[in-house]
Amino acid sequence: MTRSTHLETNTIHAGKVRDRQFGALSTPIYQTSTFIFDDVAQGASRFQGEESGFIYGRLGNPTVRELEQRMASLEKTEDAAAFGSGMGAISATLLANLKNGDHLVASAALYGCTYALINHKFKDMGIEASFVDMTDSAAIKAAIQPNTKVIYFESPINPNLECIDMAVIAKIAKANNLVSIVDNTFMSPVLQNPADFGIDLIVHSATKYLNGHGDVIAGITCGSSEQIENIKFTTLKDMGAVMSPNDAWLIIRGLKTLSVRVERHCSNAQQVAEYLEAHPLIREVNYPGLKSHSGHQLIGKQMKAGGGTFAFEIEGSFDDAVHFMNNLEMCSIAVSLGDAETLIQHPASMTHSPYEKEEREAAGISETLIRLSVGLEHVEDIIQDLDGALNSMATRLKSVG
Ligand SMILES: *Cc1c(COP(=O)(O)O)cnc(C)c1O
Repeated sequence: MTRSTHLETNTIHAGKVRDRQFGALSTPIYQTSTFIFDDVAQGASRFQGEESGFIYGRLGNPTVRELEQRMASLEKTEDAAAFGSGMGAISATLLANLKNGDHLVASAALYGCTYALINHKFKDMGIEASFVDMTDSAAIKAAIQPNTKVIYFESPINPNLECIDMAVIAKIAKANNLVSIVDNTFMSPVLQNPADFGIDLIVHSATKYLNGHGDVIAGITCGSSEQIENIKFTTLKDMGAVMSPNDAWLIIRGLKTLSVRVERHCSNAQQVAEYLEAHPLIREVNYPGLKSHSGHQLIGKQMKAGGGTFAFEIEGSFDDAVHFMNNLEMCSIAVSLGDAETLIQHPASMTHSPYEKEEREAAGISETLIRLSVGLEHVEDIIQDLDGALNSMATRLKSVG
């Protein structure tokens, strides 16, 4: 079926290829590396692009293609490309739009590996970057140079959850002929569609909410047909970070429940954030769903809710933060987010360890910042677990004096 105006329907039906041979309800997994041509002429015309059809698994696969078309519908873009990881999508999308001698403007706070890629590997390749506070449009404009080609950001920003007004970024990008790229992993298309605000390319770690079950590493980029074709024929085909058909199938399955999962993630996260905000041993809770958070003003305007992942500051030291985390019983100490299980991690020693200490501080990532991906367990059990570990921390604080 083609696209509905309702996301809930599109997560299940958009881009669906009807199995005419056996009528399978579930999308078949085309676990094949290559595709047989009827004759040499057919092979030749497929390679020339005169006849549509599959050639070789790195250039396209029917199961992966169905996922790409579904994702394009969810992000309201013309097309999408699937990758073997979120970083595969991010690196291929950036490199398709940048070459030696070019410059990009990037957010000062980014997912750790994206920051490492731009600040270290791109530098070696002669691609320079300016890191700016994306909430400051004067700073963004001031960073733009004659050789600037791309503006790259996340909203909300991982892990401080600051939100960026995308319409403002898109306007600056258009006025300066830049390609705007956003990482929409935290919100998923259920909560926010960057294309609505004029952003050119949307990247996702499909490992997170899209798949949602903690059993796949994958990425997706959504954008115009022209951009996606360029990415597919350059940095996807030739760098090769392709998604496996089996992983595409798992994500297709995960997407069927995306809207109900995200709804529950958000309502659980809202209650956990409110509990933490009221706790005397929590200094600050960075959750856009809270009225106290700077991102709250964009709820309703840009995003539907605050999402399921946020960060908070412990009132204490590095050691207190470690003690708190080690005393949790149900919540798992693990990076990643968007899974059924509640996951908790310490950015300074884990996801944001590629940053130098000073860089981390400049990006607002302190030693006592903790990130929580609120899962789908009963919210009372999540709060009870956090409460037990905070009580243990309170006892420790008293004994340490
Ligand atoms: C996890 C994540 C990535 C990287 O995705 P992988 O699938 O692990 O390669 C990129 N951006 C954000 C915001 C993430 O959370």
